[in-house]
Amino acid sequence: MTYKGMDTGGVANDADSLKFSKFCHYFERNRIGVYYHSLSMQMVFISRADSLPLKRGDWSAVNNPGLMARLKERKLIVPAHYDETEELRRISDTFNAAPDIRVLYLVLTEHCNFNCSYCFIRQSLPPDYRSSFMSCRTTKLAIDRFSECLARSSSDKEKTIIFYGGEPLLNMTSLRTALGYIKLLKENGRLPQSLRLCLNTNGSLVTRGIAEYLKKHNVHVAVSIDGKADTHEAFRKYPDRRGTFEETMRGFRFLKKAGIEVSISCTAGPHNMKEMDDIARWFAGDFDIKAFGWNILSDPPVPVKSEAQYIKKLSTAALRCYEYCLEHGIYEDTVGRLVTAFVNNRVRPNNCAACGEQMVVSPEGKIGICYAFLGTGAYFDCSVDEPFLPENEPAFAEWRRRSPLNMEECFECAALGICGGGCPHEAFRRTGDIKKRDLNYCTFAGSVLEWSLWQTYRMAKRNSRATPNTTT
Ligand code: SF4
Ligand code: SF4
Repeated sequence: MTYKGMDTGGVANDADSLKFSKFCHYFERNRIGVYYHSLSMQMVFISRADSLPLKRGDWSAVNNPGLMARLKERKLIVPAHYDETEELRRISDTFNAAPDIRVLYLVLTEHCNFNCSYCFIRQSLPPDYRSSFMSCRTTKLAIDRFSECLARSSSDKEKTIIFYGGEPLLNMTSLRTALGYIKLLKENGRLPQSLRLCLNTNGSLVTRGIAEYLKKHNVHVAVSIDGKADTHEAFRKYPDRRGTFEETMRGFRFLKKAGIEVSISCTAGPHNMKEMDDIARWFAGDFDIKAFGWNILSDPPVPVKSEAQYIKKLSTAALRCYEYCLEHGIYEDTVGRLVTAFVNNRVRPNNCAACGEQMVVSPEGKIGICYAFLGTGAYFDCSVDEPFLPENEPAFAEWRRRSPLNMEECFECAALGICGGGCPHEAFRRTGDIKKRDLNYCTFAGSVLEWSLWQTYRMAKRNSRATPNTTT
């Protein structure tokens, strides 16, 4: 597959004076080409013979009126005077409203009983950082501030509280306080009945009693598991270097036995990229997991020869696994959310709720945007002790606007409509600016887009014995 990068300004040489859309991109593989619109996600497949005059901008030499009609209809070619900047602005404006908080991360503690070598929370904490435990008072105040945000929210998306850490089960006192208080606020109408509760845990501290308690409060649990024992323990160890697999699995079994909706948070990196299909098969077979997602490890804790190649290989492995999951009725979310946008022609403005929909409360009661900034305190400018109006906070507004749709360096990218811009914290870590690109995610998003295009072609061909020029 060769990515051809469209001549976006190519003006036609016929009387109609056409040009390729600014958002039109051309891909070619095995003598089949595809013109693809990065915002509307419309496409037209084409034979290589038909593509040659088009690539020269020689519209009059295209001996295929049906093809020209389709390209115009899908706005892949547009009148030369057509101003598409306005179209982009119209789309981005629909996503540029004020922050509308619907997710609360309660960081019950930064302490953890594991010492995973890729842990970005631990890495973000300066050596002199003093980890703490959230008090019961702070827990209740954080939930109050969140309930006030929900009362002003107009979002119809799911509202969620996520208990987070470190390892949140190290602070059972505040977890119990939170669950009791949430129950009370649901009863008196200050929190919605549909509020979803999630706990992210390494699983090792889960006992039968804790599992039953979580079940009673209808808490969904995500357990971090990277694969079978050796793979899991490559990076996930106790501080004394002991492996963590057995304790994690014991906790996982308690949760399943209690009837809890358990999902798996699996970090994909050099330790498991060769066995991602096997891991998905294992999740589905042994644990009856029907949906999961990879955390793509952008910055592995072991040296890799070339980071670009590493990310490319990881993307290819994730896509191979996605194909396996498709065939076996498993939903893998990391690739799936991009493919869903592609299939539904629905632009994804962001990849992360931190872009205007999320608040994070630190153990000390500071309100911020992204938990990865806990160590530096950046973007943690508010406090649970004061009224919290994210719409009046410049940092929340800045994150809200952080989208490829507002990032000039993204406008000519083919993945513009589906990518969502990756992780703003990763962009910050590498460039010092959340509004720059997360380049490793760009590689991933580009791979998913190409896969989606050729998968569409394969399916169209299979379903209708399509000849080139078949549109989808
Ligand atoms: S910015 Fe990145 S690290 Fe922060 S919440 Fe979003 S995805 Fe997670
Ligand atoms: S963030 Fe990267 S992949 Fe996404 S639109 Fe921008 S350049 Fe493309």
